[in-house]
Amino acid sequence: MNNKKSILLTIDVEDWFQVENFKPWIPFSSWTDYKLRVEKNTHNLLNLFDTCSSTHNSIQTTFFILGWVAKKLPQLVLEIQSRGHEVASHGYYHNRCDQQIFSDLKKDLENSKKLLEDITGSPVIGYRAPSFAVNNDILKLIEDCGYLYDSSYNSFSLHDRYGSLDLSKSIKKQAAYRLSEKFYEIPVSNLKLKTRNMELPWSGGGYFRLIPLGLFTAGVNIILKRNNAYIFYMHPWEIDPDQPKVDNAPAFFKFRHYLNLKSTKKKLFKFIKKFKQHKFISCSEYINHQFH
Ligand SMILES: [Zn+2]
Repeated sequence: MNNKKSILLTIDVEDWFQVENFKPWIPFSSWTDYKLRVEKNTHNLLNLFDTCSSTHNSIQTTFFILGWVAKKLPQLVLEIQSRGHEVASHGYYHNRCDQQIFSDLKKDLENSKKLLEDITGSPVIGYRAPSFAVNNDILKLIEDCGYLYDSSYNSFSLHDRYGSLDLSKSIKKQAAYRLSEKFYEIPVSNLKLKTRNMELPWSGGGYFRLIPLGLFTAGVNIILKRNNAYIFYMHPWEIDPDQPKVDNAPAFFKFRHYLNLKSTKKKLFKFIKKFKQHKFISCSEYINHQFH
């Protein structure tokens, strides 16, 4: 029996000034004032994946790209595609799905999909919501806009922005859920402590930067044992210690955003190396394996 498990690395391609945390200090109207750093940071991630591919095994990941970034940097989208990774959508303007009227959200979902398809010349089937803010009604709209899967459910309920989903009526295969004939959900992975009936955020982002690698790896191994798959997320700005600082944001926001930026690239490299016996595949490939 093949005992290889699946690791799904996912990257939300947005720049440091587009995060929800800093919205009150950097409104959408000022985005064009900032010099883009996302291209260089994404290239650094692509290079890291290539290095890992050459020494371990082939690393295929999914990049959920913000439409606003894709419009400015179509060559970056093509680069991601040409280096063998899946191109998917992170929406157009990084507005939270649960804070938009449905007609605006529909436009955002459709326009970001179409833009990426026009650039790549290939279908774009995956979506990741900003701040993981989804619910069952929003998922239905994502499906109606032509996506085949969503990867926005984060079950860590203590975070104030994450949405909630009822997946009880869906068919579960390993870490993915079939919600309808042609629509799937791949939640990011968290660590359930069965003995204490609680859940810890273990899917990446700031938690990956916070938790020591040995402990993080142990948690991922528990998740892999239970689910045979682990879904991780991060952003290109998380490997960029030289990004400009938002001094007037509250201390907790700054802690969350700036923690360990210097060491994260190296940590990611070591993390991938620790799981080199497993397969690193994109979200769409994973769904294909599970359901087709
Ligand atoms: Zn985002």
